[in-house]
Amino acid sequence: MRLILRRLLTFVALHLLVTAGFSAFFAWRFSHNPLASAAHVLLLAEWDLALVAVCGAFATLSRARWPLIAFRALMTLTCALQVYLYTLDAVSNVSWGRNITARLVASFAPTVWSGKEPFPVGPIGISIFTVVTVALMLAVVRWGTRALTTNEPDAARVRFASTIAIALATAVAFGATLRWGVADRDNLLWRDELVASFFRPIGYAFEPTARREAVAERDAVLRASYPRQLLKGPRKHVVLIIVDSLRADRMQVYGYQRPTTPFLSGLVQGGRMKKVETAFSTCSESFCGITSTLAGREFRDISARTFQLQDVLRDEGYQTWFLLSGNHSAWNGLPNFYHSSDETFFDGSQTIRYTMDDDRLVLEGLERVPVASPDQPAFFYVHLMSTHYLGVQLPESHVFTRPDDEVSPGLEPYKMLEQLNKPDRYDDKVLQVDGIIKQLFDALRAKGYLDEAMVVVTGDHGEGLGERHWAHGWHLYNEDIRIPLLLYDPDQRYSDLSFATQVDIAPTIVDRLGLPIPASWEGESLLAPTRRRFTYHQTYFVPNRFAVLYRDDQALFKFIATPQYGTEELYDLRKDGGESHNLAGAEPALTALLRDKVRAYLNDAP
Ligand SMILES: [Zn+2]
Repeated sequence: MRLILRRLLTFVALHLLVTAGFSAFFAWRFSHNPLASAAHVLLLAEWDLALVAVCGAFATLSRARWPLIAFRALMTLTCALQVYLYTLDAVSNVSWGRNITARLVASFAPTVWSGKEPFPVGPIGISIFTVVTVALMLAVVRWGTRALTTNEPDAARVRFASTIAIALATAVAFGATLRWGVADRDNLLWRDELVASFFRPIGYAFEPTARREAVAERDAVLRASYPRQLLKGPRKHVVLIIVDSLRADRMQVYGYQRPTTPFLSGLVQGGRMKKVETAFSTCSESFCGITSTLAGREFRDISARTFQLQDVLRDEGYQTWFLLSGNHSAWNGLPNFYHSSDETFFDGSQTIRYTMDDDRLVLEGLERVPVASPDQPAFFYVHLMSTHYLGVQLPESHVFTRPDDEVSPGLEPYKMLEQLNKPDRYDDKVLQVDGIIKQLFDALRAKGYLDEAMVVVTGDHGEGLGERHWAHGWHLYNEDIRIPLLLYDPDQRYSDLSFATQVDIAPTIVDRLGLPIPASWEGESLLAPTRRRFTYHQTYFVPNRFAVLYRDDQALFKFIATPQYGTEELYDLRKDGGESHNLAGAEPALTALLRDKVRAYLNDAP
């Protein structure tokens, strides 16, 4: 049967050649280390040889065809899995510049299956792709091994025992190599290798950098030594309302000409709610916007182990509630960052009455919250989706659009995005969310939580409404990162509410409660703001963009760098709010200063 083995090996050589081609493509297109291509081929070679040896061994035993059929089936499976892996890796590398992992697949699978953004594929698309790939690979493998069907028994004998020993040895070698690859992520051979990357235990679409690790280590110490049960007597309840994709400039309370926020405007006019004039998110996407708000830091420092606002409050005896519109469980494993328990977590994946992006589900979740008790302060993080382009628009919210102006389902996704996002519809949805916030205030008051409460209303990021693009996540212009920041805190005076970013929210809350601000938080309390001159912002989608805001008494400038494209932009936000005149060439000194700030942000060691 030597002939069979030789032919199997010829097929394997072809397979490895194609594998090397794909691997080289990843190295070229996504700047992976070329060593990773070699490691990838090595892993596949070990796997293939084990298959050849095992099927070849059984083929030496009899004339039966099943070892060949088994070989074809296993090769088909291998090739199909490779196609799936390469596809997922291409999407992952294009979106956030790193390889896919099994955990990442698990956390995004429900969203992709539902057919919603950011990868609107859906059950039909997934099923077709799965089946067609298998059929195609089967055809390729059959074609590649067609000579084997006419094989005649060979007189030369290869002993079964020695072949099976080779099979075992190669299988063990494959296992050991893969283990090494998964464990040794800092080794240049394995860092970018696709199979080893897949099995690494990370469910987040960002790198677990040395800096993030170091911050987490330090945070563990800080949390352990943070004073507990410091507050005596009745404690304030805290409500943090984050409205997804909410732009300040579309809100009446921020000077928009349409009456989109009657409830919030009334609270501000009555002096019960305070308004931060100019507020920015640290990025333009939900994941980093939300975690940055809770962690009081920029995205580069955040991991699932970061010491956050809700941790401080839980340690202080607060019950922490998460009432979240949208499917947070399916977005980058967000619940891992919330450190929440099952009983106090309610998101769009759990609603019985509504669909997952319908904000009424937050009121459904609030029904399970008991009435307030003087001994049990509560923290609520409420997330609303109305202004997100996926957020459900209720029929009664057609105010600036016609009531029959509904988006027809089944549109091609990008077209749908344009319709969902058209500016009149966005205004409808701002008005809708203002009404939802009013209902939320009423429901919280009815349960006794609003009498002694501090409520913060903000956004996780902005939204492109066709100025330059639609939706969010890829840019750092004002439409992407200028958010509202409103503080419902009737009895408190705030001396300077001219400027803030998301990282200031958590420090302001703990300071207002009389608690010390954890030393690792990067924001500052708005009760005593200093004149911070520089703030930092970034995207985490690829290409990564970085922005530094520079501010003094007269000026507010924004510098945006996109290192991958080598572009730099500088805007004078006081004179050019639409960011249409790039001053990077005209202001070389300021540009150089801010370029250095971006470099320092990127290179700052832990
Ligand atoms: Zn968002």
